[in-house]
Amino acid sequence: MKPNPSRNVPMRGWLVGRDAFGVSCAAPRSSNRRAGGGTTIWRWLDFCSLFLGLALCSLAESPAIDFIHVSDTHLMDLRGVHPRLVEARKHYAPATDAFRQFLTHQLRTLRPRPSFVIHTGDVVDAFGFEAAGSGSVRSQVEMARRLLSRSPVPLFVALGNHDLQLYRPGELALAVADQSVAGLARARWIRAFDCFQDGTYYAFQHRVGARIYQFVVLDNGYRGAGQRGLAAGGSTAWLAAEQLHWLAQLMAACKDHIVVVALHIPLGEDAGSRPVRDTLAKCPGVALVLAGHIHSEALEPIRIGGRQVLQVRSGAFALSPSNWRRIRLSDRHIELFEVGNPGRVIRTLELTPAGTGVVKAQGH
Ligand SMILES: [Zn+2]
Repeated sequence: MKPNPSRNVPMRGWLVGRDAFGVSCAAPRSSNRRAGGGTTIWRWLDFCSLFLGLALCSLAESPAIDFIHVSDTHLMDLRGVHPRLVEARKHYAPATDAFRQFLTHQLRTLRPRPSFVIHTGDVVDAFGFEAAGSGSVRSQVEMARRLLSRSPVPLFVALGNHDLQLYRPGELALAVADQSVAGLARARWIRAFDCFQDGTYYAFQHRVGARIYQFVVLDNGYRGAGQRGLAAGGSTAWLAAEQLHWLAQLMAACKDHIVVVALHIPLGEDAGSRPVRDTLAKCPGVALVLAGHIHSEALEPIRIGGRQVLQVRSGAFALSPSNWRRIRLSDRHIELFEVGNPGRVIRTLELTPAGTGVVKAQGH
């Protein structure tokens, strides 16, 4: 049986309802208990007080779930790789053990326990490397599958440009990236990870109280549009027309859901981002965009339709094992925590009440 890295990954459209997460809410106990067990009336009053306490408690608390955003782990196994490539890429090698440690220790001991992890790409440093001898070393996806299977919670992954490329030694540079293998790489990712069972772009939902959160994971790691992409300037990544078509249908059906988008290359003002932003604008509930690629952390407002939406980057795990961020979703707000510090909220987005037909996130 093939190892299953994310066997808890919900299927598309699966809804998860969670009660208040990590908030203890003890019902008040009667301090007026009568010695000797009391009469029926006292037992009845005790019951009423317990019931009232629980009811008040559930009114006071907002149901919530936590998840972790992490990006750019650049996992690698450089055995058998061409020595010039080893020289060029080994600076990220320590991140592989650090991420294993993160999954098996930190993630397991976090309280409240996160419901899942979203990884916004560059899971591996390369899909493959030219070998020291002939041929190429193409075992990185399987290495990542083994490592990520240690996660105690489901992982949802967006593919990055490094996940879709082969490194070769170059004439001028030590390592030259080649994305002509992107189709082959995607096939390997789909086979290895359950989150890709419906393809490398996908959606899933979580219910939090009366609120439905719609997560949309895009695949914008392919930059092989080459001159077209480069001519537009910057780190432009283009979504294939079929992915935009799928996204348009999903956004048209988003109702009053709160939408969280995850993708590798951040959205900007470039020509590749514009059609993505225009398509997301069809849904008024887009509240958050999670991205990676740039390797630095940021909370930056971007324009989607006529609104400002927060784009969140949490730094590259490959640069520091403290580059990950806790995010807490309730039916009333979204709380963003400091990178590497799950105890400190640095931004709260207030949501309009669920079921009002108006979806708005404020507090950018
Ligand atoms: Zn990266």
